[in-house]
Amino acid sequence: MRKKLIAGNWKMNKLNADVPAFFRSFVKECSLEKDRSLTQKVDVLFSTPFLLLESARNQASGLGITIAAQNVHFERDGAFTGEVSVPMLTEVGIYSSLVGHSERRQYFGETDVAVAKKAAVLQAHGCQAIVCVGETLRERQDNRTESVIAGQLAPVFEAVRGLDNIVIAYEPVWAIGTGVSATSAQAQEVHTFIRKQAALRFADDANSLRILYGGSANPKNIAELLAKPDIDGALVGGASLKPLDFAAMVRAALA
Ligand code: PEP
Repeated sequence: MRKKLIAGNWKMNKLNADVPAFFRSFVKECSLEKDRSLTQKVDVLFSTPFLLLESARNQASGLGITIAAQNVHFERDGAFTGEVSVPMLTEVGIYSSLVGHSERRQYFGETDVAVAKKAAVLQAHGCQAIVCVGETLRERQDNRTESVIAGQLAPVFEAVRGLDNIVIAYEPVWAIGTGVSATSAQAQEVHTFIRKQAALRFADDANSLRILYGGSANPKNIAELLAKPDIDGALVGGASLKPLDFAAMVRAALA
């Protein structure tokens, strides 16, 4: 049985000054002050900008909520101006990061090989890597969804030592921030393909791999997405900025 994971991606939004009020409202809405059973049943994570990690970690402390980075460098130190390493994250109590989000691939030239190295280094430090993959609209229209995703996954599955601490997020690029989600059937089809790719390399361990869907997931469509057998949670951008919407999505994962 795979525990569902509802992960928020704040992207480059919010200030430290906004963090306490956000968590107060989210915690109240989820009744987490009195009862931690929600985060025992569903994993909840917020991926924040680097400079918000510590305040979010402080707010989340003791509530069973994970705070994650949105990116990390694969070297431990060196001449990489503007970058942050895995030991820098763990030093401040952060043990999870997104890698290969499509915005990083698209705007910052992140390659499949760099994404794979990041996932492997996170795993080697005992941290969770949430590896984002997904096709563009053009690639889908050209019937290349599976080959694109196989190409993104191959170096990751080559670089990691098994699937421990690895989560895959299927995020069709055409669905991110557009308000047009993949249908649950489209997502399930790709999730099945991802699990089969994982099984080719890791055999039965692929059955415990969590595969999240991301792309305009919201309180209205989340239940239908999560009802599919291979959709193990969601990576949520826009709706994770609103504490009440995100709380509703976490509650939907209990059903
Ligand atoms: C994302 O940024 O990973 C994402 C899925 O965004 P949105 O939910 O806004 O489409």
